[in-house]
Amino acid sequence: MKQRIWLSPPHLSGKELQYVQDAFASNYVTTAGENIDRFEKILCDYTGAAYAVALSSGTAAIHLALIAAGIQQGDEVLCSSFTFVATANPILYQKAVPVFVESEANSWNMSPAFLEEAIKDRIKKGKNPKAILAVHLYGQPANMKEICTIADKYSITLIEDAAEALGSKYNNKHLGTFGKAGIFSFNGNKIITTSGGGALVTNDKKLAEQVKFLSTQARDAAPYYLHSQMGYNYRLSNILAGIGIGQMEILEERIAKRKCNFEYYKNALKDIKQLSFPSGLSNSNSNHWLSCMLIDSSSPVKPAGVIDALEKENIEARHLWKPMHTQPLYKDYPYYGDGLSERLFNAGVCLPSGSQLTDEDRQRIVTTITKLFN
Ligand SMILES: *Cc1c(COP(=O)(O)O)cnc(C)c1O
Repeated sequence: MKQRIWLSPPHLSGKELQYVQDAFASNYVTTAGENIDRFEKILCDYTGAAYAVALSSGTAAIHLALIAAGIQQGDEVLCSSFTFVATANPILYQKAVPVFVESEANSWNMSPAFLEEAIKDRIKKGKNPKAILAVHLYGQPANMKEICTIADKYSITLIEDAAEALGSKYNNKHLGTFGKAGIFSFNGNKIITTSGGGALVTNDKKLAEQVKFLSTQARDAAPYYLHSQMGYNYRLSNILAGIGIGQMEILEERIAKRKCNFEYYKNALKDIKQLSFPSGLSNSNSNHWLSCMLIDSSSPVKPAGVIDALEKENIEARHLWKPMHTQPLYKDYPYYGDGLSERLFNAGVCLPSGSQLTDEDRQRIVTTITKLFN
């Protein structure tokens, strides 16, 4: 059997171990220490955000962003439907209500038109949406200009789920820095990893302090354990922050390589008329976390067929995210849209996108797909 090609495996640089060893040497092996402080500073310097809080996961970061936005039981949160379930689950953690918003065709992300339609209709129904949770899927920037305008117009807090989009930019500004808060994930499948981890970035000092406080059990300033608020154990470990520092050193290379993968697929498969690749918005730079292609609905070849054919060659490919409004868990919540994300789900394949793919790997992938369509 040929060697397995994974969808998006971790890609270490070798620079991580030194920082992990520093944590061991200093005995700062838990949730405080120099690596954490440094990792947060590096994230700020890189993204341009004023504050970063390193957390145990992207999901935890979304949860704390919602709490900081004041989301409580019964509150409505406008949320991208086309996403991974981890975007929406923290809304339920708060016993709040997700209101799902469909994507637009260019960016595959939250449609400003459906967002505004949803807001108007919720207001008409006597609801008062408290937050917008907009996702940058597969690294592609959402339409931040219009989404920010709408958020401002209706005074609704904007939170960006940039879990998949570290290093992506819109109008030359880093994703995650447009809203009140932005979040990143350093899960093993993301563009860089801390083995597992996340971060929240913001320009609001109070918000950053609150999130850090909540992530470390909400311990009040007192000589004993005093608590007036419910907290969480969501802080990143100093050991894992060391992995993050090492990974940040090679992030730009990883982005360049993933972009290269995308261009390779687009070029190598351009003669297959049934295939197309998302273009993204004109003023945006994707980190190309995952390369995705769409199969025209007229083609007898379906995404499942491509995924099976690749699997037979020991190559991992996947379906696009199944939209939240079609998930058993979420199907009964309000949804505003025209079904675009469901059509994308039915037409799309995520191709292997790791930054360590070789020319031979990509050749193997493209050959398998080409055979299928000929
Ligand atoms: C990975 C991911 C998350 C969750 O991040 P974790 O670090 O795995 O908790 C949230 N949203 C999106 C869109 C993701 O892809």
